[in-house]
Amino acid sequence: MTAALPQAYFNPPRRLPFVLPTPPQGKKLISLAINESPYGCSRKAWVAAEARFGNPNRYPDPSSADLRRAIGKQFALDPERIVCGNGSEELLDVVARMFVRAGDEIIMSQSGFFQFAVVAARLGAELKRAPENDYITDVDGLLALLGPKTKLVFLAVPNNPTGTLLPVDDVIRLHENLPPEIVLVLDLAYGEYMEKVDLDRLMRYGGAKPNVVITRTFSKAYGLAALRVGWALAPDWMTPGLNLLRGVGNINAIAQAAAAAAVEDQVFVDRVVAETTAERSFLARHFTRLGLHFVPGYGNFLLTRFPDEKRKSAAKFIDLAMREEGIWLRPVGEPGFANWSRIGLGSRAENDLLVRLLEEYLK
Ligand SMILES: *Cc1c(COP(=O)(O)O)cnc(C)c1O
Repeated sequence: MTAALPQAYFNPPRRLPFVLPTPPQGKKLISLAINESPYGCSRKAWVAAEARFGNPNRYPDPSSADLRRAIGKQFALDPERIVCGNGSEELLDVVARMFVRAGDEIIMSQSGFFQFAVVAARLGAELKRAPENDYITDVDGLLALLGPKTKLVFLAVPNNPTGTLLPVDDVIRLHENLPPEIVLVLDLAYGEYMEKVDLDRLMRYGGAKPNVVITRTFSKAYGLAALRVGWALAPDWMTPGLNLLRGVGNINAIAQAAAAAAVEDQVFVDRVVAETTAERSFLARHFTRLGLHFVPGYGNFLLTRFPDEKRKSAAKFIDLAMREEGIWLRPVGEPGFANWSRIGLGSRAENDLLVRLLEEYLK
């Protein structure tokens, strides 16, 4: 006789509903597969990280107070309403754990961010996806899915993997039509790449609502993906709960120091955004010339469709790019994108190389 095993909260699927991208090993890798910045990070962040590395025996501040103060100062926000996470990934999970139980429903756009589905799977929640118009989130489609079990709506602006931008007025209309007991999570991981007026409007609007959580990240424009730092702006009634649910020492001390310095260096961020925008136009121009179809995007990547499933497929090009130049690309995991690749924007030299390979391949 064995003792009865504890009852699981739900029956997890035998196979994960997602594939985690593992970077291939190799020194000369050109990574265009996971939306990383090719521009490194602010020199000030680097210096701050190095200084903190001198005291590795000391625990980090579990409340990330300096980092929250730096973020608050930079964006004129109350630090008490900021919650930091081990990547914004952790914060998406934490918000869901606060409001969602197995069997509850989470709503997202058809080709929304894959982490939303990961979060739902972890909790045993039902995930409902609303069809899109031209790869853009459809507000009425989302609203049509609301039901008595709906707890959370996830929305990324700009979205990943599509890169499309739901206009601010539509985000507001979505929120205005949500019952107050449903929480809207606005994932602004690519917010820095938006027009500043639009980003400010979203921050101000969402920041004033009792059922909106906004998430931001240091992984993209700030170029600190390796350190795993994200932050949320949450209503003040919600922050004690979110802080309880996050990991106690969730942001390591080196990451806290680096991110606090990075947020003060907006000159660096502006330069990254300007270069990224220029590279996006560069690739868009060449893709058009080569007859490659892509979704007009606002992030640091372009969702791109290859012309011929058999002879000129995305899969074949992905193999070829890795074999010939060590360029790491990936197919798109979401259903409906069998012959697509979400191509990250590299440096000009990397993008040049990519265009040359594409030209050769598509000839
Ligand atoms: C990259 C990305 C994130 C950021 O994840 P981190 O955990 O902060 O690295 C969040 N949301 C979206 C839509 C993303 O593409």
